[in-house]
Amino acid sequence: MIRDHYDTVKQNTGTSAVLCIVSKHRTPEEILSYYEQGERIFAENRAEELISKAEVLPADIQWHFIGHLQRNKVRKILPYVSMIQSLDSIALADVIEKEAARIGKVIPVLAEFHLALEDTGKSGLDASEADALFAHCEKLEHVRIEGIMAMGPHTDDKARIREVFTQGRELFDTLHQTYDIHILSMGMSDDYTEALACGSNMVRIGTYLFEK
Ligand SMILES: *Cc1c(COP(=O)(O)O)cnc(C)c1O
Repeated sequence: MIRDHYDTVKQNTGTSAVLCIVSKHRTPEEILSYYEQGERIFAENRAEELISKAEVLPADIQWHFIGHLQRNKVRKILPYVSMIQSLDSIALADVIEKEAARIGKVIPVLAEFHLALEDTGKSGLDASEADALFAHCEKLEHVRIEGIMAMGPHTDDKARIREVFTQGRELFDTLHQTYDIHILSMGMSDDYTEALACGSNMVRIGTYLFEK
């Protein structure tokens, strides 16, 4: 672990945000270095990698899935995940519902939105699709939608980053008027302080915590 970076992140997130340590590409030993500090939430973006790590690491780790999830991988990962942050279609919600019902589990999910439209080729819903997805998920018994996730734009322009995170915050606030949601997952290594300033209450940080 990188002590000074970790201390900085803990200080910045404080009690107002949940830290998800993004452990993709990292070894079980690297993950354990943060586990031993008391961290329990780790995030992966590939199904096979999540499963192989979950099988060798402590059972009380809460694994979050943050990558684009193919429908044919849902059955395999459901026993291991405590949250899917990358729900990006009604069709995927239906597959999660079916597979979760099969194993008698309720799966917490976040709807992923693609807000930084200048970054093409990214997955995620358009803001205009929010209502249809949320209304649909309300009807599902084994999918519990708890909030939204979004990525900031790939740029150094802090004003543009804040603009996108503000849009995420406003989308969250609008949905919150109708739906019982409480998680706004925004912010990665390079932009988490802007995300926190815009009201994020869950950050997903990898590089900064693992690379000098
Ligand atoms: C990789 C990834 C992160 C972490 O990014 P870093 O820049 O390494 O902090 C956060 N969210 C998602 C969806 C990712 O794929």
